[in-house]
Amino acid sequence: MELTNIGVIKELFERHGFSFTKSLGQNFLINPAVCPKIAELGGAKPGVCALEIGTGVGVLTKELAKRCDKVIAVEIDTSLKPILEETLADYDNVEIVFADVMETDLAALLAEKSGGLDTVVCANLPYYITSPVIMRVLESRLPISAMTVMVQKEAADRICAKPGTRDCGAISCAVSYYSEPKLLFKVGRGSFMPSPNVDSAVIRLNVKPAADIPAEEEKLLFRIIRAAFSQRRKQVANPISGELHLSKAELSALMEGCGIKPTARAEELTLKDFGKLTKAVIELK
Ligand code: SAM
Repeated sequence: MELTNIGVIKELFERHGFSFTKSLGQNFLINPAVCPKIAELGGAKPGVCALEIGTGVGVLTKELAKRCDKVIAVEIDTSLKPILEETLADYDNVEIVFADVMETDLAALLAEKSGGLDTVVCANLPYYITSPVIMRVLESRLPISAMTVMVQKEAADRICAKPGTRDCGAISCAVSYYSEPKLLFKVGRGSFMPSPNVDSAVIRLNVKPAADIPAEEEKLLFRIIRAAFSQRRKQVANPISGELHLSKAELSALMEGCGIKPTARAEELTLKDFGKLTKAVIELK
């Protein structure tokens, strides 16, 4: 069954009485070149388990199932169930869990179902929760080597921006703490049904080995990063001192001790700078 053929999809939908739910970010891929590319570049191959988030009609699921030993997919919309039973009938290595990914214990899911295989995450993410899903996967410290996902082009640029450069934000810093992000390729809005009003891009996050940092220090680091970018046009000393209940003079002294200009803006700080500042705050207390 050709799941990128509009006629085939429409017939499936009519027969199963399915209609799109816009609020769930249901823009399904209809460009036949894209899913095989995501699967290949995402590391789908024999001996691997793929975790997919959001199956739609199973167009990417199928490409993953062809290449991997096992596919575990999480899909929120139960009205897709009868469609997926039909479209994925030929693949006995696919297990679909109907649940909200934001409420799913992904570590427990993989521990239970991946069979100990090397695992990768591959998905065309629902755009309304792109950053929360990425952070949920990374913060859960899943035993995965990479996460290859399609996101809105603007989100891809932000996520892949290097800390210390103009485009970076709290999400770029957080993502690069856990992984090495790379923009793989762009996908035009015409590749989807229905067509969204923005273009997309596929990015791959190569997951780094867990840093040997105490949980409390990690939590503080992210508090500082979030505070710094909460007022990104202002000097970081203002929002950070507010967040940490330190006087601006105290914080400026700490920043200078770390070799950071107290007048710097968030986008001028590298992840290393944020790390040094976090350590200095801990030592102060
Ligand atoms: N993979 C399919 C494709 O490429 O055509 C569908 C991608 S579509 C952009 C996003 C999918 O994620 C939809 O099937 C939607 O129902 C599902 N979804 C949305 N929110 C979700 C959530 N919170 N948890 C799990 N799946 C979700």
